[in-house]
Amino acid sequence: MNKCDVCGTESSDIQVCSSSTSGVSFAYCSRCLQSGYEPYSALVSMGLFWADINKTYKQQILIPSLNFHGKTREDFDNDVEKLYKEYTEAEQVAKTNKTEVTAGE
Ligand SMILES: [Zn+2]
Repeated sequence: MNKCDVCGTESSDIQVCSSSTSGVSFAYCSRCLQSGYEPYSALVSMGLFWADINKTYKQQILIPSLNFHGKTREDFDNDVEKLYKEYTEAEQVAKTNKTEVTAGE
């Protein structure tokens, strides 16, 4: 039994396909695959590059997927912002650690 990365359904009818959100692959049940749904976390990661996402993609993939996950555009924007903050904070920490190491040399 495999598990769908989008809806969590366990089924023997799961296919691993490359995601339309990026170069990664996810496991999809036939319903999610046919509907073009994507895992919510993948959509949020993709949201970091929002400016690069074309309008057709937003309308055809993002909006139906958000509806499927029961998320509003506002939820989505908040989660993207949260992830962006986590990224920039992690980067800041990495830089600080680096500075400390070089300063000690
Ligand atoms: Zn599914």
